[in-house]
Amino acid sequence: MIKNALMVIAMLVSHNSLADDLSQQGDAKKSPWPRIRPSIERDAEIEANIDALMAKMTLEQKVGQMIQAEIKSISPEDVAKYHIGSVLNGGGGWPTDRADGPLAAWLSLANLFHGASMDTNDGRLAIPVIWGTDAVHGHNNVVGATIFPHNIGLGAANNPDLMRDIGTITAREVAITGIDWAFSPTVAVAKDTRWGRSYESYSSDTSIVSTLSREYILGIQGHPALDNFLTEEKIVATAKHFIGDGGTNDGDDQGNTVLSEKELYEIHGKPYVQAIGVGVQTVMVSFSSWNGEKMHGNKYLLTDVLKNRMGFDGFVISDWNAHEQLPGCSVTSCADIINAGVDMIMVPVQWHAFLKDTISEVKKGEIPEARIEDAVRRILRVKHRAGMFKSGRPSDHLLAGRATLLGSDQHRAIARQAVRESLVLLKNEGALPLKSNSRILVVGSGANSPSMQSGGWTINWQGRDNPREYYKGFTTIVEGFKAVLSENGGQLAREQDDDIDAAIVVFGEDPYAEFEGDLSNIDFDVNNNDDYKLMKALKAKGIRVVAVYLGGRPRGMDEIIDVSDAFVAAWLPGSEADGIADVLIGDSGGKPRHDFLGRLSFNWPMSKTEKVKSPAANSSRFPLGYGLKY
Ligand code: BGC
Ligand code: BGC
Repeated sequence: MIKNALMVIAMLVSHNSLADDLSQQGDAKKSPWPRIRPSIERDAEIEANIDALMAKMTLEQKVGQMIQAEIKSISPEDVAKYHIGSVLNGGGGWPTDRADGPLAAWLSLANLFHGASMDTNDGRLAIPVIWGTDAVHGHNNVVGATIFPHNIGLGAANNPDLMRDIGTITAREVAITGIDWAFSPTVAVAKDTRWGRSYESYSSDTSIVSTLSREYILGIQGHPALDNFLTEEKIVATAKHFIGDGGTNDGDDQGNTVLSEKELYEIHGKPYVQAIGVGVQTVMVSFSSWNGEKMHGNKYLLTDVLKNRMGFDGFVISDWNAHEQLPGCSVTSCADIINAGVDMIMVPVQWHAFLKDTISEVKKGEIPEARIEDAVRRILRVKHRAGMFKSGRPSDHLLAGRATLLGSDQHRAIARQAVRESLVLLKNEGALPLKSNSRILVVGSGANSPSMQSGGWTINWQGRDNPREYYKGFTTIVEGFKAVLSENGGQLAREQDDDIDAAIVVFGEDPYAEFEGDLSNIDFDVNNNDDYKLMKALKAKGIRVVAVYLGGRPRGMDEIIDVSDAFVAAWLPGSEADGIADVLIGDSGGKPRHDFLGRLSFNWPMSKTEKVKSPAANSSRFPLGYGLKY
């Protein structure tokens, strides 16, 4: 409906040259940041609607629009009473006590919040509340959704068309639950993989990150030049975390990124140029600092650069209570974050105190009214562009409640393709491919572990301690092998068998998210690792060992690479781990059915690189771009 009004600029035509074209438009001497012509032209009708609405809004109603609260800490009545603009469900935030409640529970809660926001009793104004969620590898808080590989695997696959498909499917599955907005893609360029969020980064190579995040955004939101932009199958995307999240010293989560402005742009800024170029509607700010200053208080980068120079006209959202980290601020009070240019504040629990405090700060003149006006205008603009003023109750949306589409075979087939393409073969001394009619032992801590194969941000925040039934629709690695072998006359072997043709030992990292995954040393501890002991025992019996690594980043593990006959990095493949059997098992004559397509999107470190600690190129065992084929 609104799509025709959102007219389009021709510069989108040649994507690959977008950044270059744009940087030439910037004045390189003064500012490294390019001026970007907005990919979506201002729509006069929308702006007029916003004017009319804002003319009627009180200060309380305006500030309410700028608040985002967590669904567990706010009721629909609160949304109505305080004119709240947005809700989120955080990692592990579900509408029911258990994650595996009915799908309909998502829609009923979305309906309640939406209904409250549209309630015009007592002189209230109807402004649809926007619900955001961390759909970072599929709609990952929802039981039964398709769970894609985490970004590091997609960076290894490096297939732009596939990224657009993944964005398209993720948007659909989110829309099924009545949710409007995904906090993805993470466009971080992780430079020190000791960072616990490295797996959320496609690559340490800026150009890979730029291309893949652009295509993903086009899948999530649709293409501003096509008639699918923000239609009912689409949702709002977020480029996060602005800026330098992947560049912190020692890979510290929420740490300090020390770079010149030009380097900041060249390494971490270019993906935002692409994201804005294709019309990303929201940008989330990074918890990290740039040269010692917290990004959430950085008016220069948020307002002067992102909004004014780069022409971003959607809205800026803060990260989870990030404002409490600014000097002089607390979780319930922070004028500085708004004055710096944050438009919507993610204040999940103490939203009410923050709201009250902000209103009084505006009254005291500590936050200029013009700043509030700008923030609210941006939020309303995104809601209009997303069609939210016209689309009615969440349960009436086109895809709402389509249970058969959530985790459908068609969606899972794309995820399985993504798994196949993400696999990187680092070593193969005649062990692969396996013959489809052979007897294969599939063992190791990750062989039958939905949590290890999907990592953090899966059903809950850390991806740990979920009951098995929450991983509905998952295929584990051993299940994948069993199915593929039995279709082809082969079978799974048992450890005590004496006619084992080869052993697959699946090992790796236990799940983690954010700072919980930070490391001081990139080495993987092989000494205390049962899977490594198992590999050695199998080798001693003369059995060929294929090591399959599940994990969020390359780690120093020379002993494991050396003991194995073949070594495959499978990253965090998600729900369709049968994609691994597709590639490792050939036909009955031992000819490959699918070749390896993945290439390292990060350097792979040698063991004991303590001096360097992070896998810099000079200490790598395998360089970025490495990956064998059959
Ligand atoms: C993370 C964000 C996420 C937000 C909401 C934060 O802790 O840094 O990436 O979108 O929580 O769950
Ligand atoms: C939430 C996450 C959030 C994190 C921030 C967790 O409790 O579930 O969504 O990112 O806190 O630290």
